[in-house]
Amino acid sequence: MTHENTTRTIDAPPSSSDSWPTLPIIHGTSDTSVDAPEAIEVVGNQAENLDLVDLTTAEPSESQVSRTVQRPATRGWGRLHYGWTALQRAARFPWTLYRARQGAVMPPRLLTHTVTFGCNARCVMCDSWQLSTTGDLSLEEIEHIYRQLPPLDAVRLTGGEPFVRTDLLEIYHAAIRHLKPLFVHISSNGFLSQRIVNFCQERDRTVPLELAISIDGVDDYHNEIRGSRSAFRSAWKTLEALAPRRKELNLHLTVNQTVVNDQGLQQYKLLQERLKSLNIEHHLIVAYAESATYSLDRDRRIDQTEFATFSELTPAKVAEVLADAEQSASHLPWFRRRLRLNYLRGVADRILHNRSSRPKACQALHAHLRLFPNGDVPVCQFNSQAVGNLRHQSFAEVWASATAADQRRWVRACAGCWAECEVAPNTIYTLDFHRSANA
Ligand code: SF4
Ligand code: SF4
Repeated sequence: MTHENTTRTIDAPPSSSDSWPTLPIIHGTSDTSVDAPEAIEVVGNQAENLDLVDLTTAEPSESQVSRTVQRPATRGWGRLHYGWTALQRAARFPWTLYRARQGAVMPPRLLTHTVTFGCNARCVMCDSWQLSTTGDLSLEEIEHIYRQLPPLDAVRLTGGEPFVRTDLLEIYHAAIRHLKPLFVHISSNGFLSQRIVNFCQERDRTVPLELAISIDGVDDYHNEIRGSRSAFRSAWKTLEALAPRRKELNLHLTVNQTVVNDQGLQQYKLLQERLKSLNIEHHLIVAYAESATYSLDRDRRIDQTEFATFSELTPAKVAEVLADAEQSASHLPWFRRRLRLNYLRGVADRILHNRSSRPKACQALHAHLRLFPNGDVPVCQFNSQAVGNLRHQSFAEVWASATAADQRRWVRACAGCWAECEVAPNTIYTLDFHRSANA
C-alpha cells in the first residue's frame, strides 16, 4: 500500500542482498532500525505473533485451505444478476453525478474499508504496522455493518496488509453479498503469495477484482523501502503466479510504485522494464509527507495548506519521470488514461509549480465512505477524526449526525489534496477531468 507520514532519512540502497543493511528510520520522535525480522501482531481479532520472514513466505495452514476449498466459486449472484446490477448502476449514475457535483449529501457509492492496520511489512513511509490490531471488527461485526449500507459501485479492501487477515475471503464474500459492488479493489504488498493466489482462485469470480501490488523498485531497493529482505522476491512471485491467469480469474493486476525519494524516481524505468515480461500496468504514486490515516497520532486533521513530499525530490527528476509516466498512461483505455493523467498533472502542479486547486467537489463523507478496522468512520486520508463508530451506532445515525455535518463543512472548505486514493473517487463521481482535458 501507499501510505506515508513523517519525514525521515533513507540511506542509499545496497548493491547486494547478501547482507541486510540497517535502515535509519525516524518515526515521530523515536528512532528505530529495521535490521532483522521481529515478532509482530496482526490479524485483527485473531492476533498472532508472526515472524516477518516466515510471513512473507508462509503458505496457508491446512485448516485455512480446507475452509476455502469448501466455498463455492460463485456465491449469491451469477453473471445475469451481475449484468442487471451493472445496468441499474449505470442508470443511476447521472443522478449521482448531478448530486456529487453539487456537493450534496447522498448515500455512499464507494466504500474504502481498512480491514486492519496490521501489516507484515516495515515500510519507511508508513506507521501502519505499528498500530494496534486489538479491537479490529470481527467478521460478524463487519457483516452486520455491510447489511446496513446501500448497494455500492465499488468496494476497496485495504490495510495495513489486508491478507494478514485470515478471514479476508469471508469479508470479500460478505461485501459482494450485501453491497453488490461492480468491482472490488484490493491493495497488497504481495508478500503472502500463496494466500493471495488461493484467494483469487476461491473467491466469487463473477465480480471483477482489481489487485494492486505495491512494488517501489527492483530487488534490494524495494526490500529496503518495505523493510524485508524478501519483499521483492515475494511480490514478484505473486505477480508471476497471477499474471498468466488474469482472464481465468477475472482479475485486473496492477503495480503501484510509491516514490519516496530521488532513488525511487530512478527506479521507475527499471521497474517498468522488469514488468514488461509480465505485461502489467504500472502506476506511479508520489509519497506525501503526512497522512492522518496511517499516523501513530490518531484523531488527526491535516489541513492541506501545502504539498509536502515524503522527502525532498529533485524537480528535474520529477518532471522527467512524470513525463515518462504520462507516456506510459497513453496506452491505457480512455477512461483510465484520463484518471491517471488527472492525478499525474495534479502532482506536477503541486511539486513543480507549487500551485493547487480544490476538486470540483470532494466526495469524502459524500459518495465516498471510509471505514476503519475498529468501526470508526473517518473523514478521509488526511482527517482521521471519527464522525461515528459503526460497531456501536447504526450507519443511518452516523451518516446523518451533526458530527458528520460538521466535518462535511471542513471537506467543502478543504484546499484539496493529491492523494491518489482520494483523487480517483473525486474525479469519477464529478467527472472533473480538467487536468487531463487534452488526453
Ligand atoms: S505495506 Fe504495510 S507498512 Fe507498507 S505502506 Fe502498506 S500498510 Fe504501510
Ligand atoms: S480534498 Fe478531500 S480527501 Fe483530500 S484532504 Fe481535502 S477533504 Fe480530504
